[in-house]
Amino acid sequence: MKLNDIEQKIKSIRDQINRHNHLYYISNSPEISDIEYDILFRSLLSLEEKFPEFITSDSPSQRISSAVSSEFKQFEHMSPMYSLANCFSEKEFLDWYKRTLDLSGYGQLDLVSEVKFDGLAVSMIYEKGIFVRGSTRGNGIIGEDVTNNLRTIKTIPMVLMGNVPETLEVRGEVIFPKSKFDQFNESRKTEGLSLYSNPRNLAAGSLRQLDSKVTAERSLDIFVYGVGYSIGNDLKTQWNVLNYLKSLGFKVSNLSSLFVKPQEVIDFYNTLVDSISNEDFSADGVVVKVNNLEVQQQLGVVGKDPRWAIAYKFPSIKSVTKLKNIELSVGRTGRISPVAILEPVNIGGAIVRQASLHNFDYIVNNDLKINDLVVVERAGDVIPKVVSFVPEGRKGVEFEWIFPEECPSCGSKIIRLEGESAHLCISSSCPAQLKRLIEHFVSKPAMNIEGIGIKQISILIDNHIIYNQADLFDLDSKKDEIINLNGFGEKRFNNWQKSIEESKKVAFSRVLVALGIPHVGLETAEIISRNFKSINNLIAASELDLVSLPSIGPKVAYSIQNYFSNEDNKYLVNQLISTGVRFDNSTDNMVVDSKLHGLKFAITGSFDNYNRADLVSIIKDLGGIVSSSVSKTTNYLITGDNPGSKLDFAKSNEVKIISIKEFIELTL
Ligand SMILES: [Zn+2]
Repeated sequence: MKLNDIEQKIKSIRDQINRHNHLYYISNSPEISDIEYDILFRSLLSLEEKFPEFITSDSPSQRISSAVSSEFKQFEHMSPMYSLANCFSEKEFLDWYKRTLDLSGYGQLDLVSEVKFDGLAVSMIYEKGIFVRGSTRGNGIIGEDVTNNLRTIKTIPMVLMGNVPETLEVRGEVIFPKSKFDQFNESRKTEGLSLYSNPRNLAAGSLRQLDSKVTAERSLDIFVYGVGYSIGNDLKTQWNVLNYLKSLGFKVSNLSSLFVKPQEVIDFYNTLVDSISNEDFSADGVVVKVNNLEVQQQLGVVGKDPRWAIAYKFPSIKSVTKLKNIELSVGRTGRISPVAILEPVNIGGAIVRQASLHNFDYIVNNDLKINDLVVVERAGDVIPKVVSFVPEGRKGVEFEWIFPEECPSCGSKIIRLEGESAHLCISSSCPAQLKRLIEHFVSKPAMNIEGIGIKQISILIDNHIIYNQADLFDLDSKKDEIINLNGFGEKRFNNWQKSIEESKKVAFSRVLVALGIPHVGLETAEIISRNFKSINNLIAASELDLVSLPSIGPKVAYSIQNYFSNEDNKYLVNQLISTGVRFDNSTDNMVVDSKLHGLKFAITGSFDNYNRADLVSIIKDLGGIVSSSVSKTTNYLITGDNPGSKLDFAKSNEVKIISIKEFIELTL
């Protein structure tokens, strides 16, 4: 290929990758499989490696820069990033509307209402549609240059689509998904690192990393909501702005609405107060903006706040209350966590009586004492937690809490392993652990047995009706006893029976999850199910067999072997098998990843965009077999440029000959 052609080719691959990124991350409607995407991406990398002169800063390959900065460069915004005035009640909001209406001189003002994301505000500059620079809000005039870190966020387009303006400064809020927050802190905890107190701090901390590789590992996301400065477009309203940003390929919240009456805004606000905890981001209110941009101009700015917008804040999510006591809660793996018992307090509409304290070190590090006044935070539907104590509240009646020596459920001695933050009950007959284990067993990602929660499980165990998970499958023999228990009844019992019967059909991988083997989540369970196929093969597997599987390390392998070396666990599995629960994958639906299961491939010739090793690993990953020569039992010969003698053999022996494109189609 001529250099010119190579440059064109690189450009065309980049365009394709950008398009597929948008389909995947913004529209949620991918057109190609992850594997095909990988192939595309790898072909870009290999071309750029061979021809580094064609690497450009907007290439998708440059999302992770290797440069580590020693400090952030300061960067002056093209136009100021204003803060917003707040209001906290319906009356304050209506006062603002009336004031603004009077000032504008109009009889009515259209209003755009948007979610006020609780993250870190950033500004991004695009020249001719290409992302060139990004910064934090800073003090509104000068921010910090975080260009390399912003590049790592997949929902920020590097190249804009459609009708791109000369220069465009876009504003948005970088957030950290709520769903991943606890998990993230959990892994920090096991590594002995300090914890983040909320998703906003985590978003800010992640974006302000000097090494953008660290930022890339965090699951940052963005919502874009405004244009700060632009040349070359003709936007008349904020509503236009939102739709325009969407058309350029940005991620814009679909919760924004255009209203003509202030009462509609209030209704919108009230709906969000109730529903916002279901969203995967933190938000602290609604931003209301005058829709017409010209009217915005006329209204202008007072101090640092524009007159044309206001933040209508959600009810406070932090409160101060008294820490009355600390109790212990025992998890299914025996992990013992301290729980704060609080003087009941209303936080953002919910009465909070208990809050998380993470672990003993957290109590020590935050110097928390019984009888302290403490700040309790509730972020959406995350379990409330104690954030700090109020020093001014100390009267001398506070005292240190000492970690008890015995498990509150079974009375056995609590241990703490060297170098670990967690305290453990290691008794194998601890009722508290059993209750949590069964709660996990019946949960949605596991056996998905409906209508049975921790409350019902506790009653069944405390009344000696069940002793382990398998006993759930034999409730019928104790029917009379059960329906006479407080709050149970026949109808409920019959529903359980139906759901328990259904649960015998769940896939082997989910049964593995249900057992509650430490460190075996759904992903690991699926890998095990695919590779070992049945519980007997898994029990017979050596540590080496286990660690040779992708994403299974020594820790997981040990945990699995340890589980099955326990007689109680073996007994439980046998009991479950006899009830008809599935312990092999023979009747699982063909999963996506074994698309090429049992098919034999051979390869000949060379391919433009990827090398042979990549192809081999793709085939193997999908359950196919690759042989170095063609035989009559070969199903497909993948043929590239300059094929060898394999092609002749295939032709005369009726082996199916396919191109790389046809091969990709097979994998989809
Ligand atoms: Zn115990």
